[in-house]
Amino acid sequence: MLLWVAAAAIGILVTFILIFKYTKTGKNDVIGYSSKCKKCGEETNGLKCPKCESVKKDWR
Ligand SMILES: [Zn+2]
Repeated sequence: MLLWVAAAAIGILVTFILIFKYTKTGKNDVIGYSSKCKKCGEETNGLKCPKCESVKKDWR
């Protein structure tokens, strides 16, 4: 019985930590959608990154 209680307490604690981490990083990051460019971190608001796009164009 004690083991069950301890396991439940640890489980709740872990979920709380995960929720705290997710809320800290932002809901957008949880969904997989970020307002910032993944490559350079420039704010794009979901649009294509102007910096990385220009780099791609230069590559061609
Ligand atoms: Zn970029």
